[in-house]
Amino acid sequence: MPETKSYESIAANVAAVRENMRQAAEAAGRDPQDITLVAATKVQTSDTIRNAIRAGITICGENRVQELVAHLEDNAYEGAKVHFIGHLQTNKVKFVVGKVDMIESIDSEHLMDAVEKQAAKLDVTQDILLEVNIGDEASKGGAKRSDILALAHHALQCPHLRLRGIMSIPPATATEEENKAFFQETYQLFIDMRNELGDNVSNIDCLSMGMSGDYPLAIAGGSTMVRVGTALFGARPPWHPQG
Ligand SMILES: *Cc1c(COP(=O)(O)O)cnc(C)c1O
Repeated sequence: MPETKSYESIAANVAAVRENMRQAAEAAGRDPQDITLVAATKVQTSDTIRNAIRAGITICGENRVQELVAHLEDNAYEGAKVHFIGHLQTNKVKFVVGKVDMIESIDSEHLMDAVEKQAAKLDVTQDILLEVNIGDEASKGGAKRSDILALAHHALQCPHLRLRGIMSIPPATATEEENKAFFQETYQLFIDMRNELGDNVSNIDCLSMGMSGDYPLAIAGGSTMVRVGTALFGARPPWHPQG
């Protein structure tokens, strides 16, 4: 685990990221207020998270169930919301459902059913996004884009889920041009989902795309939510996505 990052360094980074977000929004003719910053806090300490919240972070994005559980026990997120943004196994939904404000990474009917079941048990409504594997990468989570609209219809059949939109992570190796195309395609899928769901569309307001390397491009492409880690907390030690 990296050392705790100081309030001062995080506050300076938050200001810089927000300024870049504002410029990207204005260049695209969009209202900067329409784009939310989620701090991706994987591998960070509870005190780093507290410093980030002091520095104005309002949503923390957590990747790994184990870290989520530890930070919740620590009350590290006090004053902010929490989104789960990592791969979720059905046998771990009990650690996540009802404990986070949104699960951004629903990518199968099977997982959705498990989340619905746990939300019903707790008698809560769980906000979710559908994660699309926009680059069709074999190694990555996320549903195939051709499955997204069927998953959206399935979500409407789940009384304890509130579908809020789509999340995507383009391939790490994409060039800027490829990234731009992936963002455009994700945006189109978001619009298709809204059109497809007709009268049920009022909650569908989240398009979560853009990370440290590409959030200005994602904002130009219509993102309403960027998930930023490195640009706020510095480079992370290498880690393995499973677990
Ligand atoms: C780590 C992570 C991010 C942030 O990545 P950075 O490149 O460090 O900004 C965003 N989304 C998800 C799902 C992540 O796991």
